[in-house]
Amino acid sequence: MLPETVVSYLNEHSEQFVAELQRLCRQPSVSAQNLGLGECAELVKTMMEQVGLHTQLFELEAGPPVVYGELQGRSDKTLIFYDHYDVQPPEPLELWQSDPWAAEIRDGVLYARGASDNKSNIVSRLKAMEAWLQTAGQLPCSVKWVIEGEEETGSRHLGQFIRAERARLAGDGCIWEFGGLDDDDIPAIVLGLKGMLYVELTARGPAADLHSARAAIVENPAWRLVQALSTIRDAAGHVTIEGWYERVRDFTPAELAALEAVPLPEEELKRELGIAHFLNDMHGPELKKALAGGPTANIAGIWGGYRGEGHKTVLPASAKAKLDFRLVPDQEPEELAERLRSHLQRHGFGDLELQIQAASPAARTPLEAEIVRMAQETARQVFAKEPIVQVSSAGSGPMALFSDLLKLPTVAIGCNHSGSQTHSPNENQRLDVFLAGTQWMAAMLERFGQAG
Ligand SMILES: [Zn+2]
Repeated sequence: MLPETVVSYLNEHSEQFVAELQRLCRQPSVSAQNLGLGECAELVKTMMEQVGLHTQLFELEAGPPVVYGELQGRSDKTLIFYDHYDVQPPEPLELWQSDPWAAEIRDGVLYARGASDNKSNIVSRLKAMEAWLQTAGQLPCSVKWVIEGEEETGSRHLGQFIRAERARLAGDGCIWEFGGLDDDDIPAIVLGLKGMLYVELTARGPAADLHSARAAIVENPAWRLVQALSTIRDAAGHVTIEGWYERVRDFTPAELAALEAVPLPEEELKRELGIAHFLNDMHGPELKKALAGGPTANIAGIWGGYRGEGHKTVLPASAKAKLDFRLVPDQEPEELAERLRSHLQRHGFGDLELQIQAASPAARTPLEAEIVRMAQETARQVFAKEPIVQVSSAGSGPMALFSDLLKLPTVAIGCNHSGSQTHSPNENQRLDVFLAGTQWMAAMLERFGQAG
């Protein structure tokens, strides 16, 4: 249980915590636009130092620096935190009710780009540490903290940093950058993320766009492209590339039970998404399994030829498509990229250009890991509710660098709430959840320090 002194500290300083969150949200840090990243890294470093952490900025080969902080605690058990200080672009600005960098508070909710993703979690974690340091003089466990600046653009240089600093980053568990309450304000503990293979396919035809009368004698690259794409996935959503599912790890019986226990309001979700039925008419356990553990092949964009008003009879010189493949444990992105390449060759599309733009594996921490139990116990303590455990998010991120490369059992828990509009206009952070999440972090630090 959290000592009364820690709880009082958290309650008495809540206004200051909110002010600190505003301070961080008012510093723009858009990685896609290279806006304010250096300044934000400095600010995060300063905020860490003010709390008492030892910090360092790591410049990478390219891209913004990694902010690193650490502090020895009462116990040698070491908890690693992963966060990011960059945010998505705020556009379209006209849809915001207040300036995205103003961090305005209305009815107990703070509105800013990055408020929820991921600056509230950074400040929440920092303030949990501050509460321990100010009341007990030290942290209950040791802490190491990696805060990168290009998560929103694909964490392109994080792997390089993790590999180079592997020895420094030894630890016993990891807390991920997001997490918090679900739609019904029930605390949720997320144990995994899907991986990602992102490619661009280009079909090339004649040297220049042609009069489409030439279609009688010249092949159209847009047709070549859609024919190639149609060999990649069937109408049921199944990836039809040879061997694609070979390494897919089955859910354990315990994971299946956990999936079953998490509610999925299907009708509500269909309404929200504006669809009449789910892919392949899935429902029930099948739907949950697909979300948490189903590989996907998605066309993220496809273009070529004339796209303006009216008609223009043209045979385009080239056509392109961007595809994202979500991967699951234990699929290997490099191997799958090769499988895609040879699949295209075998089907007569070896002339299409295949450019790999991102490749990262999935991550999934076992349900039996001790850190999962700790997250459950502390959630019960703080929220007086039984938390749900999500075997995997349907989203992606560089979690495997921590869970697999650094061998750290990893959970995503934090101070987010549903309705936070991350990546959208009017992104926001409920302040009650921000403060409750801070308590959750303080409790996790304590519980981790007591680990056997
Ligand atoms: Zn994000």
